[in-house]
Amino acid sequence: MISIKFRSIPIFLVCSLFFGLTEVIAQQEFSRQDTLRGSITEERAWWDLNYYHLEVKVNIEDSSIAGSNLIRYTVLEPGQTMQVDLQEPLEITDFQQDGESLDFVREGSAFFVTLEKKQVTGDVNDVVVEYAGKPVVAENPPWDGGFTWTADSNGKPFVATSNQGIGSSVWWPNKDHPYDETDSMRISITTPGDLMDVSNGRLEGVDEHSDGTKTWNWFVSNPINNYGVNINIGDYVHFGEIYDGEKGELTLDYYVLRDNEEKARKQFKQVKPMLDAFEHWFGPYPFYEDGYKLVEAPYLGMEHQSSVTYGNGYENGYLGRDLSGSGWGLKFDFIIIHETGHEWFANNITYADVADMWVHEGFTNYSESLYLDYHFGTQAANEYVQGLRLGINNDRPLMGTHGVYHRGSGDIYNKGGNLLHTLRQVADDDSLWRETLRGLNREFYHQTVHSKQIENFISESFGHDLSKVFDQYLRDTRIPTLEYAFRNGSLSYRWGNAVSGFNLPVDVTVNGKDIRLNPTTGWQRMEVEEKETNQLVVDPNYYVGSFDLLGE
Ligand SMILES: [Zn+2]
Repeated sequence: MISIKFRSIPIFLVCSLFFGLTEVIAQQEFSRQDTLRGSITEERAWWDLNYYHLEVKVNIEDSSIAGSNLIRYTVLEPGQTMQVDLQEPLEITDFQQDGESLDFVREGSAFFVTLEKKQVTGDVNDVVVEYAGKPVVAENPPWDGGFTWTADSNGKPFVATSNQGIGSSVWWPNKDHPYDETDSMRISITTPGDLMDVSNGRLEGVDEHSDGTKTWNWFVSNPINNYGVNINIGDYVHFGEIYDGEKGELTLDYYVLRDNEEKARKQFKQVKPMLDAFEHWFGPYPFYEDGYKLVEAPYLGMEHQSSVTYGNGYENGYLGRDLSGSGWGLKFDFIIIHETGHEWFANNITYADVADMWVHEGFTNYSESLYLDYHFGTQAANEYVQGLRLGINNDRPLMGTHGVYHRGSGDIYNKGGNLLHTLRQVADDDSLWRETLRGLNREFYHQTVHSKQIENFISESFGHDLSKVFDQYLRDTRIPTLEYAFRNGSLSYRWGNAVSGFNLPVDVTVNGKDIRLNPTTGWQRMEVEEKETNQLVVDPNYYVGSFDLLGE
């Protein structure tokens, strides 16, 4: 049970939370650029991504970059015009296929290139895109992303990309829509010779050049979302260990600034117990082949696939604070736990449209509670997730608008987590709940999904149609309220403040006796043993309200 009054506190969660005020206020009309960005346009639909080879030279002295991306794709149906995205002020200088330069036009961030070679269904072709310029500088990374150019405490350059909100096309040319992930990727980053680049996947090798620069070649052997691709350049030291996990040996590699090694060796001891908890609840880490890395970055953190970036100051909590107010948030390093939780929900299971972003943030928010549950018990997890309700605004639905690159409310975190916690109560069976979470990661392994697929899977797993429950919590802002009244030896009850047909089962205590009600939006009545003072208490783990219609 919760009070019907909600106070919001100005918490800005990390990893992908870029909801500034403008986002909240703007119930915007969408532009042609929004559609080009957010929809599967005709110029995107006919080809399926197979592989990227991204090569970028990073010029620290003038904050510029120059490079190319080889895009390999399979022709799904005939098409001669291809859309590739790159944001201003970067410029594409050349498109080539089979060594021939091609004509192209630019419309904002979308480039339309006309292919000369006939594109035949089933063929696998390459285009090479060359580009250069000074990329957008991140104003408030990772929320307001781009490049971050800074220096460490020894004055050495410390450079990184972050781009979930703004989009990966802020620094490299690609098919910048989440529905189509490349199956594998090679990332070759050229840096000054005294610095190192850490990107995604495994380091294949380093090329040394006569001008003193080095190229760091990383290979990702699994599908990867565009926004997970990243550059981190610094004076890194490396240490590592092996995790004996569900799928065998998983390499854990840590890259931190030279002066922080000692602190990192201590703080990163949290990684193995975290993996114990997450593999228990979610199944095997989804990218054994690419390894797991924690990489220090000059901003708070981000769920970059197989190279989770870290900037939480080597202390527990969220920059030392407990977002739940329960005390439990200080038992773990928020960035290590939260951003790694995304390896299952964001990187393994990825939204096919950013409107469904609650799938990333709701489950990952809940992963914090499940971590606590595993190591500190269910009561700790319950207190944590209930505490997070302070951060819920109920300002807009969790679901955004599809096809126009539009996100839902910032409530995708705390309300998403509380929706899942509520569903766990409905399951009332932690082995079913665990099997549902593991089942999601098996069923949608390395896939991009729509929210509806996740919703249907959970309904099927529970053997209970939860579609109205999802409609309520994802597509509406109201908190359902259990309305009830005791009168003449009976209890009447129904869901109020709810979508038509809302049918969440709920555990209550009536005059000291635990029972499960199956309320709908119509009145139901049950006999109760009359007491002098009748009392109904809703299990506080449900994110619902309650209201005694005849109460004082
Ligand atoms: Zn997140």
